[in-house]
Amino acid sequence: MAKNYRSQLVGVFGCPVDENPTIRVQEAAFAAAGLDWRYLTLLVKPEDLADAFRGLKAMNFAGINLTVPHKVEGLKYVDEQSTEVQLIGATNTIVNRGGRLIAYNTDGKGFVESLREQGIELTGKHIAVLGAGGAARAICVECALAGCQEITIINRNHKRGEELAELINEKTESRAAFARWEGTAPIPSCDILINATSVGLYPDPGCPDIRYEDIRPGMIVQDVIPNPADTLFLKKAREFGATTYDGLGMLVCQGAIGFTLWTGLEAPAQVMRQALEAENQADS
Ligand code: NDP
Repeated sequence: MAKNYRSQLVGVFGCPVDENPTIRVQEAAFAAAGLDWRYLTLLVKPEDLADAFRGLKAMNFAGINLTVPHKVEGLKYVDEQSTEVQLIGATNTIVNRGGRLIAYNTDGKGFVESLREQGIELTGKHIAVLGAGGAARAICVECALAGCQEITIINRNHKRGEELAELINEKTESRAAFARWEGTAPIPSCDILINATSVGLYPDPGCPDIRYEDIRPGMIVQDVIPNPADTLFLKKAREFGATTYDGLGMLVCQGAIGFTLWTGLEAPAQVMRQALEAENQADS
């Protein structure tokens, strides 16, 4: 049989990107699945994005992840957008199918899947989301598509929060409302509270400025922050009796969905989580 020295290439375009740990997670998964695939962490400046996409096609990459600041701009260079990308308006995972680039967004799907893994279904639920940035948009859209009944969006920037609520009300079956975040934010009575802001991400040791005493025993509280895993937000929520879930589950699930989109194989999710935990430990 002829030997094959050509690896399949995937990776991430970002700026900054040096501290993105996805290479460890995806390469652990490729090794566990016995695949000769490589994941490259690529610094791409905004003004070089068009050239980077030309290179991606010319070098036959199997796909690419996009991170800050390319998730919206990257849509200019794809041939097709999945349903969730059309709603969210941003992509984090692109698949190269025979030269056609197809855009997906696995952030919100990863969030929903990580809850499902804990036996939590969203049908009929009321969720409250802190933040209205990229992660919040993806989470709100996918929770709405997963059957969530009511979504309260709490954000400092009114325009961003109102636009997200409008999008959910116009394009999905869920009902969404925007609540202004001025000073210490009150939390509505809800089933699931989600921190989708960037507050608490390493090296920031802080937590969102909310009225923690509004958290009721049994409430599910989820953070999107993947590093540190056990954030101050989650610690405080537990003091008021909440059941908490960290951002590692979402990160692993979104990566696992990306792995499957690229390779067509089931992802070794346990291996991916262990790789991510090892990276977090190396940081602390
Ligand atoms: P964006 O920059 O798009 O949005 C940031 C959001 O945080 C905005 O809504 C912003 O509010 C809010 N915010 C920032 N600082 C504060 C503050 N001091 N008080 C209140 N609100 C604040 O970022 P992303 O949405 O892309 O990412 C958010 C976080 O999600 C990051 O930490 C990222 O690591 C994490 N993430 C995790 C993933 C996972 O798989 N676990 C996947 C994707 C992201 P405003 O609009 O008012 O400025």
